[in-house]
Amino acid sequence: MCGIVAYVGERDAYPLILKGLKRLEYRGYDSSGVALLHHSELNIYKKKGKVSELEAQYSGKEPRATVGIGHTRWATHGEPNDKNAHPHHSNNRKLAIIHNGIIENYASIKKQLLQKGHVFHSDTDTEVLIHFIEDIQHETGHGLEESVRLALREVVGAYAIVIISADHPGQLIAARKGSPLVIGIGENEFFFASDATPIIEYTKDVVYLDDYQVAVVREGKLSIQSLDNLVTIPYIQKLEMELETIEKGGYDHFMIKEIFEQPRSIADSMRGRLRAGDAHLTLGGLNSYLDKLAEADRIVIVGCGTSWHAGLVAEYLFEELARINVEVEYASEFRYRNPVIGDKDVVIAISQSGETADTLAAIELAKSKGATIFGVCNVVGSSIARATDAGAYTHAGPEIGVASTKAFTAQVTVLTLIAIATAKRKGTITEDSYLQLLNELEGIPAKVERVFENAAKIKEIAFIFTYARNFIYLGRGLNFPVALEGALKLKEISYIHAEGYPAAEMKHGPIALIDEDMPVVFLATKDSSYEKIVSNIQEVKARKGRVIAIVTEGDTLIPSMVDFVIEVPEVHEILTALVSVIPLQLLSYYIAVMRGRNVDQPRNLAKSVTVE
Ligand code: GLU
Repeated sequence: MCGIVAYVGERDAYPLILKGLKRLEYRGYDSSGVALLHHSELNIYKKKGKVSELEAQYSGKEPRATVGIGHTRWATHGEPNDKNAHPHHSNNRKLAIIHNGIIENYASIKKQLLQKGHVFHSDTDTEVLIHFIEDIQHETGHGLEESVRLALREVVGAYAIVIISADHPGQLIAARKGSPLVIGIGENEFFFASDATPIIEYTKDVVYLDDYQVAVVREGKLSIQSLDNLVTIPYIQKLEMELETIEKGGYDHFMIKEIFEQPRSIADSMRGRLRAGDAHLTLGGLNSYLDKLAEADRIVIVGCGTSWHAGLVAEYLFEELARINVEVEYASEFRYRNPVIGDKDVVIAISQSGETADTLAAIELAKSKGATIFGVCNVVGSSIARATDAGAYTHAGPEIGVASTKAFTAQVTVLTLIAIATAKRKGTITEDSYLQLLNELEGIPAKVERVFENAAKIKEIAFIFTYARNFIYLGRGLNFPVALEGALKLKEISYIHAEGYPAAEMKHGPIALIDEDMPVVFLATKDSSYEKIVSNIQEVKARKGRVIAIVTEGDTLIPSMVDFVIEVPEVHEILTALVSVIPLQLLSYYIAVMRGRNVDQPRNLAKSVTVE
């Protein structure tokens, strides 16, 4: 949640920060603001709404500054308005802060500060933190850097912060715990950001700050110390991201660009890992742990949202192929439940951003009980990637659209590879099935490409249902998680109420909703439950529901029963989800566009959920 950008160097900071904030807007977009240091004076500009509104209000009025901090907010404490937008200043207005996360004990700190006469101008937890730092400076006589450390030792919660000080031109202080922060290192200049996207056009040299570290840029030098004053030599890594991957490249929205990127992102997730012709399957980060997986009593998969759906797909895969008992848990429930888990269990944590707060906490809990932890995430160097024992990146490339599309199929691809590798190690699949699966998997990108040939037809169906008020998605087996994902996609970006169910569950309640106004999307591809789903379709048609069926190419039975069909190529049943989810992504996208929704930045949502 929220985007942080800060700069110190020789360039004009304001346009650079604004451009960076626009790149980060997918993380939070209810308000934004910038603080610039000009002739030892802090100037703060902030505005409710999108970064473009801030730009429109102030552009041309701001001073030229070579140091500044900027923020796009996703409100947790206090409604999204001008006064709650970041940056926030201290009581004496000498310090300003931007913050991503939540200061959980802000209320008690605020109470003490109010007694000391501090005056607050916002409802945020963030403003309390900067007042607290100023108070410590004042009470102890310590310098700013040490006061930041002392304050952060008292703080409960999560944060990535950057602080600018009117008394220290050319200096920025940053720290993190639980929220990401990347530092870009250029020639006589430094960049701070929540992810690398605002940095990549200036430098590829970055340092990922760790939890409990405080970074200071002073007189053109970067130093890093822990909250306990341990000095660390910054570990500089090279960014591998390319600029065009974070730009729209002629598409109207990132979401549609990312949907159409899937043949490539799925292939990228297999690149170097799978060569069917040589019967080669290897997962660099996991190889030495494959025995652990093969011998696991149980696999517990934790995730949230779309990642949780990818986990449900993986449940079928591991059970079917490797015959391992799997449980899929919402990370937020798992972490607060005192779960029964021990050293024979393997936990697979799935997260696109690798920063999801609940998933991270679930990992820590499982670790403390001795479980082995694998991570499946998309962002290299992310907190989850670093907190796990081993893992595999999804290599989908940056996903900017808030509603996840290519990250989901990349997750399913990687989980499929892991399940096949585990089954092979365990000896639960025959050599023939192994080879067949590798071949089929390699052919998936081309099959996804074929689904796009139906885009115009899907758009026509979207047009017919643009103003539907509800949708039901039904599927069985591997298409059940796809039904959930299809419903989630639709509600996220079009704000139409949608529910996904296992098709057979319909009779236990949801069937009461069926009438001539209810669109029902059936995932009805030719698989082992085909006959069963045909019966479910008949049950809905008998009640006059309007059925859109996703069917396998060449099916003649279902098209004769339903209102609309969308064909997808035939695939091995185990790989169904990778193909049948594609038309559902397109359907949601087109409906949302026709309803005039902000597809890439739907209301109330943010891309990387770093608060619990
Ligand atoms: N808790 C802070 C606020 O509500 C920061 C939220 C964010 O991460 O954007 O302002």
